[in-house]
This record gives sequence, structure tokens and C-alpha cells, in this order.
Amino acid sequence: MSAPSPHKIPVHEVDATKKRIHPRFTSGFYQRIRLFSMYFLMLLFLVLPWIRYDGRQAIWFDVPSQHYYVFGLTLFPQDFFFVASFFIIAAFTLFMVTVYAGRVWCGYACPQTIWTHLFQHVEKWVIGDRNKRIKFDKQPFNAEKVIKKLIIYTIWFLMALITASTFVSYVAGTDFLYGSWQFIGGIPFPDWPKWVWVAMFIFTFATYANAAYMREFMCIHICPYGRFQSVMFDKDTLIVSYDYNRGEPRGPRKKGTHPDNLGDCIQCSLCVQVCPTGIDIRDGLQVECIQCAACLDACNEVMDKVGYPRGLIRYTTERQLVENEKSRYLRPRLAAYVLVLSVLIGVVVYALFDRVPLQIDVRGDRNQLSSTNAEGMIVNSYIIKVTNKTQQHQEYVLSITAPEGLSLRTRLKTLPLEAGRSYDLPVSVVGDPKVVGKGEIPVTFNVDSIDGTYHASRSNVFNSN
Ligand code: SF4
Ligand code: SF4
Repeated sequence: MSAPSPHKIPVHEVDATKKRIHPRFTSGFYQRIRLFSMYFLMLLFLVLPWIRYDGRQAIWFDVPSQHYYVFGLTLFPQDFFFVASFFIIAAFTLFMVTVYAGRVWCGYACPQTIWTHLFQHVEKWVIGDRNKRIKFDKQPFNAEKVIKKLIIYTIWFLMALITASTFVSYVAGTDFLYGSWQFIGGIPFPDWPKWVWVAMFIFTFATYANAAYMREFMCIHICPYGRFQSVMFDKDTLIVSYDYNRGEPRGPRKKGTHPDNLGDCIQCSLCVQVCPTGIDIRDGLQVECIQCAACLDACNEVMDKVGYPRGLIRYTTERQLVENEKSRYLRPRLAAYVLVLSVLIGVVVYALFDRVPLQIDVRGDRNQLSSTNAEGMIVNSYIIKVTNKTQQHQEYVLSITAPEGLSLRTRLKTLPLEAGRSYDLPVSVVGDPKVVGKGEIPVTFNVDSIDGTYHASRSNVFNSN
């Protein structure tokens, strides 16, 4: 039998009809890291909407009013650049991490993995570990089976509901979501608009379906990241691998012995039993492997028990395992990702610091573009839209920078504006035809906060024809 390459990912047809996988729960060094990472991220997701900043929800994507709050920063639809940049940076970070450490995202941080793990924990809690769950599946329906299934389904539903309400609270706001009640026939009932009901239904359904039924099917068949990872891997990417040369020929043996004709794999199949995607790591790296290292921890435990050195399954690289050379940590592809990421982060940080939380838009008043008033002066009308992008009330003063003979007329001396609000202010620019002459004269409209902190300007033209 020739050794399967740990680097080449066999994208063979996966049997979508295969039976439900009931992984055995294992413990070990990497599982402790996984649990810490998974519970920490989940806790973050659940707790973040409850954190307050300046009297309101600190992270709040208020879609209905188109205000997106991230602590002290308020973003508007015009600030799409920052949202797009965030996703581009996240994607490049993921690519970079994948080049270095393989599918570490899948195994340690992906919500699909986290929720599937939690839902499987519920099954383990109600039914028992792997063997009991397999037996339970085969068992004919009786009162005990129905009750246990009902308990599992109820807990799953509640978990899906909590997940959905947390998701929706990032948009609807916790105050509104949990504080809007009406009484129908004396029974309290959420008083939500239609979109909240629809969002709650979609997220509850998606969470339940993904974590209860789709599970590894999602990772293997639907998630594109799992599919294109092979393009990103190189010979120095860290992967969970079985040491074929050390392990083969595999076979059972008496405790405390090591027959000369056998390798270190005692054929206990624990690595297969703990695998959440139901594969055998000894067949080489496969597209189904989410690199959770459960097989690694399980095998280490077996090696400890039989008195062989740990690491028959371990984190390694193709260069180390197959070519017996030292892995290269600094390599051109990694350096390219670091460079691109540094530039991207630099540009976004600069743009964030350079961003003025005040916006001005100027458009000519179509109904009254240019006219002459009773005093013989040329009048041009505009609508000035001022947006206060700070999180405090502001008062603004309007002015123009224009050649001699032009002056600004507005009915407001100062423009008071609440945090996050916009106002369309009609203004006129008046010009003496004897001074300004004929043609299109450039005019700059300025808005300054009264305390002088913020300034924004926009150019337009004065038409004196
Ligand atoms: S857990 Fe280790 S020893 Fe047991 S079958 Fe898997 S590779 Fe072999
Ligand atoms: S083969 Fe090992 S690392 Fe890969 S998914 Fe299965 S248990 Fe996790």
C-alpha cells in the first residue's frame, strides 16, 4: 500500500446519504484550546449586544434608520467603504491564516462547528456517549425514545431561538426587541414589526437546520471555503496528519508489546470514532477534514496508554512529514499576504482617523435655479444637506468662499442638528451682475461646527447668465 499524500486533498465524491455521524467526545490539549476558543467566541456573540456605550447599544446596526454604531463610531450608508474594507481584511486574514495553519478557522472558530458541537453535546447529555447514541438511533420508537427526542428537540429549539434573537438584536436593538410587549387576551406577546418576525423565523430555522441536521454536510458540500482550501495550501502549511511511515503496517497487538512486523498504529479506530465528519485521517488529508485535531488528541491518549511516543497523528507539514525537511515559516506567499494586509489595514486606519464626522452635500434647487430679484440682483438657489455624523448634538454655521460680489442668504444663523441627523436647508447665493459679470462662477459652501472642531466643504457653481 503506498502512503497517501498528506498534502494532496482527494476531492472524491462524498456519500451524501451516509448515516448520521455520532462522534465520540474526546479531551486533550487541542480540545481544551478548541473549547476555550469556541465558548469565548460564543459568549462574545451573546454578550456584545448588551454592552452600552454613551447611553445606547455599543454595537448596533440600526438598518431601519441607516445608522451603524460601533462604540464611538457612527457609520452611514455613505461609509460603505469601511464595511467593505472590514470584509476584505477579514477575507485576507483568513487566507493568510490558512496558508500558515490550514483550516484552523473551521476547527476552532467557525459558527457552524461551534453550534454543531453544542447541539451534539445536548444529545450526549440526554442519551449518552457515541455507542449509546448509535444504539438509540436503531432502537424502535417507544415512550423513552419519544420523551428523550422531545427533550432534545426542545433544548435545540430554545438554543436556536436564543441564537436568532441575539442575531436580530444586533439590528433591532436589545431595548426594542426585549422591551416591546402587547397584551392579547391578558397574555403578553412581543409587539414587533413584520420584518422582526420574519428575521426571527429565518434565523431560528437556519440555526436549527444547520446545527441539528446539516452539520458536517454543510462543511463538505456547501461551504466554499472548504472546497478552495487546496488552492491555498502549500508544502509548509500546518495540517493534522497521520504519520504513515511510523504507523504502518497497522494492527492489534497484546498490551505492552510491539511486534517487529507492525507499526505504531494499534488499529483501535478511536481516531475515526472521534471525527466529527466521520473520516479516517489515516487515508491522508481529505476535503472533509475540518482540522479539529480530535483524532490527534484521541491518538495521543492511546499512545500514552500503550507506552509509545505521542505524535502518530500530529500537526505537521508535507515538507516535514514526506520530505523529512524543516518547514519554512517565512515564505513568499505568506510575505505577500502580510504585505497586502498591512497596506489594507494602514489605509483603513488612516481613513478612519482622517474621517470628518460631518457631511455636506449641495445641489441646485431645480425649481428655482437662477433668477433676478426686485433689486436687480442675480439669485441662485441651492439645497444644502448637512449630516451630523457625531454622536453628540452639534450647532453648525454656514458660509461660502466665493469671488467678490457674491453673498450667502439663509434663514438660519446657525443650524442645530441632533446626533446622526440630516437636514436639507434651502439657501440662496446672491450676486451683483455689475461685479460678478457673466458665466459660471465657482462657489465653495462651508459648514463649521460652532466650536470650530469640525469643518466640511463642497464646491458648486453660481450661474450668472
Ligand atoms: S487512534 Fe491512533 S492508534 Fe488508534 S487507530 Fe487511530 S491512528 Fe491508529
Ligand atoms: S480527521 Fe481529525 S482533524 Fe480532521 S475532522 Fe476528523 S477528527 Fe478532525
